[in-house]
Amino acid sequence: MTKRLGIIGCPISHSLSPMIHQSAFAHYEWDDVLYESWEISPELLGKFVSECRLPDAGIIGFNVTVPHKERVIQFLDSLAPEARLSGAVNTVVNRNGKLIGYNTDGPGFMRSLMMTGFDPKSKKIVILGAGGAARGIAFSLASGGVSSITIANRNIERASRLSSDLNREFPDLSDVCSLSSYDVWSACERKVDLMVQATSMGMLNGPNQLDSPVAFANIFSPALAYELVYNPLTTPFIKEADKAGVAVISGLHMLVFQGAIAFELWFKKTAPIDVMMQSAKESLGIGP
Ligand code: NAP
Repeated sequence: MTKRLGIIGCPISHSLSPMIHQSAFAHYEWDDVLYESWEISPELLGKFVSECRLPDAGIIGFNVTVPHKERVIQFLDSLAPEARLSGAVNTVVNRNGKLIGYNTDGPGFMRSLMMTGFDPKSKKIVILGAGGAARGIAFSLASGGVSSITIANRNIERASRLSSDLNREFPDLSDVCSLSSYDVWSACERKVDLMVQATSMGMLNGPNQLDSPVAFANIFSPALAYELVYNPLTTPFIKEADKAGVAVISGLHMLVFQGAIAFELWFKKTAPIDVMMQSAKESLGIGP
């Protein structure tokens, strides 16, 4: 029987995950494994998850994206520690009808970060944004031993919720500020080792597509910047970093590594990272 996987979201047509995973299956010459896109509305989420458990469906797991990452939890049987901590699931593994929720966003981010030689231990971090992605990353960085995490967000209540959740597990680690350049600068006393851009700003067809959440020239420069948005590849935040001479990592790396970790959870086999990266680039129309 064909083994089926897929990604659920609403809308879902923009996702690169099908191309990335299919390239890995092709690499291993698996012609009995299929990765699909499933557009599931919030009302049908519970029904979808219960149908996944049926042996006849052949579904061995799936990825979860906006807007289901938090709500899907109530329909699962158990959670891996990073999913429990962050309160969000982006990968589900079906083990004989039991559904286990994982969050590979944070670990994918960390793995891609370490590949650049950045050691998060004792580093000062600013995260711009307090949504699902910011949450997963914040908990992974905290577990990695960073010295502080400032959460800067437009909605300050949401930032405070994330910061309190972090401080409950990692006392005195986190504080919050607004998303204004001046506030970020003041909160960090001019020294930031890593700034992570985890808002939706700059996203193709997203909010404020032409704006960077902070202006480096007016504030300070972090030692390293990480942009989560990968489409377009060069965002206003990346342009700010380039202008200030700051090294910057693109969201494409996290995208590929979170997918690679999901692949390894489903198949217990090393993911072909280079093949998956090449496929992601081709899907975005970027040459080798
Ligand atoms: P989310 O849960 O919807 O959170 C969105 C975040 O963006 C919130 O902090 C929100 O602030 C902020 N925001 C939205 N519009 C804004 C605006 N006009 N001005 C200022 N802030 C704004 O989304 P998410 O899942 O965290 O994803 C965030 C971004 O990361 C998206 O662009 C997504 O594509 C990207 N991402 C990339 C990867 C990857 O693998 N590279 C993985 C996951 C996500 P408020 O709280 O104030 O609304």
